[in-house]
Amino acid sequence: MAATRTMMRYGGRRWFTSCSSRALRWWDHVGPASKDPITGAIEAFLADPSPAKINLGVGAYRDDEGKPVVLQCVREAEAKVAGSDYFCLGSKMVEESVKLVYGEDSFVFREQRFAGIQALSGTGACRLFAELQRRFYPDSEIYLPDLTWSNHHNIWRDAGVSRRTFRYYDPETKGLNFSALLDDIKNAPSGSFFLLHPCAHNPTGVDPTEEQWREISSMFKVKRHFPFFDMAYQGFASGCLVKDALSVRIFLEDGHLIGCAQSFAKNMGLYGHRVGCLSVLANNTVQASMMRSQLQQIARSMYGSPPMHGLLLVSTILTNLEIKALWERELKVMTKRVQTMRTALREELEKLGSSLNWQHVTNQVGMFCFSGLAPNEVERLRKEFHIYMTIDGRLSMAGVTPSNTTYIANAIHQVTRERARM
Ligand code: PMP
Repeated sequence: MAATRTMMRYGGRRWFTSCSSRALRWWDHVGPASKDPITGAIEAFLADPSPAKINLGVGAYRDDEGKPVVLQCVREAEAKVAGSDYFCLGSKMVEESVKLVYGEDSFVFREQRFAGIQALSGTGACRLFAELQRRFYPDSEIYLPDLTWSNHHNIWRDAGVSRRTFRYYDPETKGLNFSALLDDIKNAPSGSFFLLHPCAHNPTGVDPTEEQWREISSMFKVKRHFPFFDMAYQGFASGCLVKDALSVRIFLEDGHLIGCAQSFAKNMGLYGHRVGCLSVLANNTVQASMMRSQLQQIARSMYGSPPMHGLLLVSTILTNLEIKALWERELKVMTKRVQTMRTALREELEKLGSSLNWQHVTNQVGMFCFSGLAPNEVERLRKEFHIYMTIDGRLSMAGVTPSNTTYIANAIHQVTRERARM
């Protein structure tokens, strides 16, 4: 029964119907998987033949001309790596990643109090952690923010961990529902696992302030909860790697053991290379090494070992002082461009005379703007204006450029006009 229920959750049909048939045909009971909101927007964009179409669905950085960017730091790292017999162990990249998030001179590294492993980008790091959680806390659940990146639900579901949500986003204010968030943390059973976005929350672009992070950390202490940070955008919220790690470091100062998934997909533009890191802090070095061996075993049965080329690129960028400084400058350029586009989009909407409040466009941070557009408005944007975003109204600011801002603002104004009149 439980097996049938599980299978039906993935879109399978009743198994016994096929089984009872004499001429059993393999896989007849498999139905289509449910559509992912992000890939759904991409598919709709690809199917549109209009040359004017604009893709605001995908969270990948684009320049002012709307073109994908290979960072100069990556080109320089490529040049160092290409043709050399340069060999690098994952452990070097892991050490440098750990310093990036917990701090250059943090005790985490000095005392070797972490179990770290190279992961298949941020997704893979989350998945490894979810497996570790199920292995050693089989009855535990994961609390995910409402809202969150939709794949978080899939990752913990497929790892066999039950999911709950805690309140986070307030659709009224298009900001943080801080009191509800604190209440939910307080009311969760002591010792629960929570997933937190340390910066540039996806999809809402809404982050707690420093003061709020301090309160959240204190409440975690009282409740003895475990904080797992999914750091997919370090540097992309403020343009500064250290500032964007503030939340994690507040928790660190408060003495929490922490788990952290890191991705280099966005901040280094290494989307297809799949380079990431998972680190879990331990009480001491011996525990750290035991946990590391568990993580290595989990990874081995899932995918063997991760790809080497991206690892070489990330290691080179993180260990070569000049290239690292170049990376930090390029991060600032990318975030500045996104912030400029936020201001431009809001100004255009206000210039058009929209009576709706568009302050959240500039208040939110990171790659995305959670616009507040209703599903029918998103549909109209697709059909009438060839503008594509996810159905929940999330638009990627990276797809907004100086030459399409007026067009996008006008389209948004047109589809929200009636609501504005109400
Ligand atoms: N976490 C969050 C919050 C994300 O937004 C993303 C990317 N969309 C990821 C993890 C995973 O990114 P990747 O696997 O491409 O590194």
